[in-house]
Order: sequence, then structure tokens, then C-alpha cells
Amino acid sequence: MPTLRDLLSANVREGDLYEHLEGTRIRCFACGHRCPIPEGQPGVCKVRFNRGGTLYVPWGYVGGVQCDPIEKKPFFHAYPGALAYSFGMLGCDLHCSYCQNWVTSQALRDPEALSPPLRATPQGLVEDALRQGAKVLVSTYNEPLITAEWAVAVFKEARAAGLKTAFVSNGNGTPEVLEYLRPWIDFYKVDLKSFDDRHYHELGGRIGPILDTIRSLHHMGIWIEIVTLLIPGFNNSEKELRGLTEFLAGVSPDIPWHVTAFHRDYKMTSPDDTTPEDLLRAAEIGRVAGLRYIYAGNIPGSVGNLEDTRCVQCGKTVIRRFGYRILEYRITPEGRCPHCQHSIPGRWADHFEPQITSHPYLPHRELLSIKRH
Ligand code: SF4
Repeated sequence: MPTLRDLLSANVREGDLYEHLEGTRIRCFACGHRCPIPEGQPGVCKVRFNRGGTLYVPWGYVGGVQCDPIEKKPFFHAYPGALAYSFGMLGCDLHCSYCQNWVTSQALRDPEALSPPLRATPQGLVEDALRQGAKVLVSTYNEPLITAEWAVAVFKEARAAGLKTAFVSNGNGTPEVLEYLRPWIDFYKVDLKSFDDRHYHELGGRIGPILDTIRSLHHMGIWIEIVTLLIPGFNNSEKELRGLTEFLAGVSPDIPWHVTAFHRDYKMTSPDDTTPEDLLRAAEIGRVAGLRYIYAGNIPGSVGNLEDTRCVQCGKTVIRRFGYRILEYRITPEGRCPHCQHSIPGRWADHFEPQITSHPYLPHRELLSIKRH
């Protein structure tokens, strides 16, 4: 019986995002760790490794697929109501103790994280996405930067089929990986987990590359939305939230900021769950910092109008939501407020199609073109 490591070692191809150092040493630059990797060793993420001076990267499988409303990613200003066909591989370059996708992200670090891979091809994934009625293909669940070559292969097929493409990522990127993705990606969600470099060290990263990624994506014209999971006692001090939201507003006040509620998960079981009052306080800090589109997530129905999109010019509601469900959609085909014609930043469809689902669901197994190993 092959182990998970055996399976993953066999499902690889040579990577694009690396350079040769002296001898057989190489450097991977798919993420901000920029690992120098000696012969026979993996990088920090455990899924990219050096064999004979060549970098091998994950290929030909998914750790899971799911049909999600795009609001779950969350994207609120990118094709509202669309079905987002979401796939992930395995592994991550960080090790957040509160991770909600730990079964896939920590597959090779944590013996309890077991998610058997499924064989897949880019064509098979896109065919499934089209069969489900998806408009967007999303690389998510694990950290997509560390499997960027596979994501680009899938995204090329997706674009050819008329689908939009997106990353749900921790943002620990490099200039090289962002240039590599740039031609093939439409929307990018960054988890900005903290504004304190010491906190990022606890999670296994540094804040610098993440802030650089946010600036670069904005300058490249890729649509970005930012999420901060508000964890009491970890990242909810006024000083930290003020710094974080002032940074975002400095990049662009039009970047949507989703401040979402923590619930106890994985190894982080001690902080209290986030309350609606905590979210409202954080949202107010963001508003004072100058952010125009702030959303409070994970506690539907308890955060006033912070689930809705309002026109910043006339104040009228242009999209009304409950959780992932769209209750009302009033944005014009040109992406404007119907009352005052103010342009609402985002990527909007020509016309709103009713949601296929407001809840995640698994595609029917028999329809999947992907197979268990
Ligand atoms: S993706 Fe990041 S963690 Fe993995 S080998 Fe490359 S630089 Fe290292």
C-alpha cells in the first residue's frame, strides 16, 4: 500500500519557478520562503523537492474539489452569484494552528491530516466545472502558490473554455510567481492574517512578502479582495487593525476588506469565538482608515448591513446578502449604481444570473472525470 508521500512523489513534473545554485543545489521561488534546496530534500512546503538538481512540483491530482458560491471564497465584487468550481492540491508553506483546511494544507506535516488525492487532468476539471454550470475556476484549500504550475495548466484550459480564474491564497508570493500567474488569473483573494511580523513568524512566515504581493497585484490590475480572520487576543488590537486597514486603504480604498469571525478549530482551541460586536468594532476601525467596502463575515444576520454592498456616493444598497445568499442585485450591466450612476469597483457580469447554490456541495462522483488513486 503506497503512503501519501509515495503517491505525491510520483505525481510530479519539473517545475518552472526555480533556479540552479552551485552543484546540485537549487532555489525555488514559488513563494516568499525562496527555499534553497539541497539534493534529495523538499522545501518548507514539503511538496516541492530537489531530485538530481531538478525541482519537482505537484502535478496531475487534486486533494479535493467542491462547488462553492463565489461569496464563500469570499469574493463580493467579482461575478456575484457565480458558481465557483474549487479545487485544491495538498500542502502549505505556512502552518497556522487555526487553519480551517488543515486536512489538505498540512497533509505531509501532520499525521492526522489525511486527504487521499484524486487523479485529475486540466481538461477533466474544466469539463466538470462546465457541467456544473460554474463561471469561475478557483485554486484553493491548500496554498495555491506552492502548486502554481498546476494551477496555470488548469487556468489555461479554463480560459479557453470561457471561464474566469482565481486564487484563494495567503499571499506569500514573489515577483516571479506573480508574473508567472499574471496572464492567467482574474481574481485573487489574500488572507492578511495580521499586521505584526511577530505573529507571522508564529505562523511560519514573514509579513513583508505578503504586503508586497497585495501592492503588486493591485498594480497589475488583478482584482483583489482581502480577508482577515479576527482572532480574539491574536490580531484584534486596535493598533494592529488600524495599521492593517490604513495599509490597505493606502494601496486602494476600493479594495474590499472582509473581516470574518473565528471559531475554534484545529489546534487553536483556546481563544474565544469572535462576537458580532468584535466584527463591528473592527469594521469601524477600517471605515475610519478610509476603506469604502467593508464586510463582516461568518455570523450571518448579526452584523447589520455589513453583509451588503452600498454605493459610496449615494449610500443606497446595490447588493443585499444573507451569508452567501444574494437577496437583491441592483448593479447595472456597466457596473454602476442604478440610483446615481456611480461606478462600483469590481468585475461585474453583463447580467445577473440567479445563484445555482448558496451552499457548498460536492460534484456528483459519477460525473467526475477524476479518479481515486
Ligand atoms: S513553494 Fe515556497 S516553501 Fe515550497 S519549496 Fe518553493 S519556496 Fe520553499
